[in-house]
Amino acid sequence: MAFAITQSCCSDAGCVSVCPVGCIHPAPGEPGFGTADILHIDPEKCIDCGACADACPVDAIFPIDRLGVKDAHFAEVNAAYYRDTEVDAGPTTTQYARLPRLPQGLHIAIVGTGPSAGYALRAVLNRTTAAVTVIDKLPTPGGLIRSGVAPDHPATKNIMHGFDLHLRDPRVTMLGGVEIGTDVAPSDLADHFDAVVYAVGASEPRRLGIEGENLAGSTSATEVVAWYNGIPDVENPLRPATVGRTVLVGTGNVALDIARLFHTSSDALRRTDIADRSLPFFDENATSEIVLLGRRGPETAAYTKAEFAALTAMPDVEIVTLDAADVEPETFAGPPEPGRRRVVFVFGTAPVEVVGDDATMTAVRVRSGDREYAIAADNLISSIGYRTRPIEGLPFDGDAGMIPSRDGRVVDGDEVLRGSYVVGWAKRGPSGGIGANRACAEDTVQAVIDDIAEGRVPRSAKDGGDFEAFLKKRGVSPIRRRGIATIDRVERERGRGAGRPRVKLTSAAELTETARRRRRRRG
Ligand code: NAP
Repeated sequence: MAFAITQSCCSDAGCVSVCPVGCIHPAPGEPGFGTADILHIDPEKCIDCGACADACPVDAIFPIDRLGVKDAHFAEVNAAYYRDTEVDAGPTTTQYARLPRLPQGLHIAIVGTGPSAGYALRAVLNRTTAAVTVIDKLPTPGGLIRSGVAPDHPATKNIMHGFDLHLRDPRVTMLGGVEIGTDVAPSDLADHFDAVVYAVGASEPRRLGIEGENLAGSTSATEVVAWYNGIPDVENPLRPATVGRTVLVGTGNVALDIARLFHTSSDALRRTDIADRSLPFFDENATSEIVLLGRRGPETAAYTKAEFAALTAMPDVEIVTLDAADVEPETFAGPPEPGRRRVVFVFGTAPVEVVGDDATMTAVRVRSGDREYAIAADNLISSIGYRTRPIEGLPFDGDAGMIPSRDGRVVDGDEVLRGSYVVGWAKRGPSGGIGANRACAEDTVQAVIDDIAEGRVPRSAKDGGDFEAFLKKRGVSPIRRRGIATIDRVERERGRGAGRPRVKLTSAAELTETARRRRRRRG
């Protein structure tokens, strides 16, 4: 009985390297790797050894006869890939990294603790003997794994177990609650470390730039996700339903996550790690219709097949797909039919104005081909991608919304900023799932290694202890490994009684107070 890969596949290809018969594709270096929704197991070649399932960091691989009802169709998804795609025969050859001799006593800083930071940390620990200081502005590691992945996707969050092991490595110092650009300047980091890797992601929304975008009820996916996923002190950006319809702009997986959560019962949400502050909204939620606007045709929808399948599998939710020409504008002029839960994709359609009274939106005016009409709605959530938040003192490409770089090296115009590197969405822009960061981080860490080996970066005369003394002098008191572990333990304990993975602490004051609480004595 062969194995099959399912929806939560992170595509980091850990399974590919352990498969003894090379039956998992697309593999790194093959067409489609990095863009395919998931990796696939060839059922004809699989020898049922289970090595891939053991190696999978997100529990996405199961024997075909053990697939649950929700995942049963993935047996066919895996098999169909091999009918439609020609793949190389034979086991995939492993590309070994270049490991030149490096000087002793290196000290590297990584800024961020999300997926790209996790893979970068793994590569630094595996390929060098350097000590590593990992810095995050929050005292809760995980970046997008904690605050981006949807609460009803717990398997995806399991990837954090592996990253946690690296954060606990004796060579690693973890400093939470320290913001680069505010508490500490990039030049201070450059002064204290031999290399600094920025893994800061993209935490700001791209804006539509249309009239009325600032009316109450008009918001971004970034703000909505930050609110329900527990970023400290984020307030509810949504208005309660009076019309009963919410418009989402964009057809990417983030838009689908939000559409799915809107139609998930609050009982089911109560079993997840969703931030408690969002539960009253979902309890009272009378939104029956979500309209997703795709500015181009249905063939360009940005969602992945696996996420669309999860949406269509929702009980009692009707999925409707309309092209611009099919729309009867009067359908959207008034409220939707109450209680009839629908997700309506309207393609070839883009918002042109958010309309409302003084301060609050009442409708979204859209253009479909050469027609314009209004969609009555309580909320407009634009889910059109992300931008990196600029860091004071570090070059920034405002048009692209990224840190400018060449081969992972931060650049300022034509000039390379020696010793500063970037990985993940801050380097590539906001696309690709968690696993796409693995190869990206390995490439950047290789640039760090090559530069140090070739003497292209000046060695710092300071060490990690000096950096902590510097923070103290600045009046910055970081939250360390023990405080971070206390937060984790308290959140899990709060969740245990309620049958939930954790109940998140969602205010900065509560997080700091918990981290500083002295550990209770055993017994
Ligand atoms: P995305 O996949 O890039 O989708 C962005 C959407 O916004 C597209 O439909 C795009 O349409 C539209 N758009 C962009 N600019 C627009 C504008 N000015 N007006 C109207 N529409 C506009 O972004 P995302 O949903 O934020 O996801 C980011 C990445 O995270 C993706 O790689 C995604 O797969 C990944 N992710 C994965 C999961 C998962 O695997 N479960 C969950 C969440 C996110 P065009 O195509 O026309 O530009």
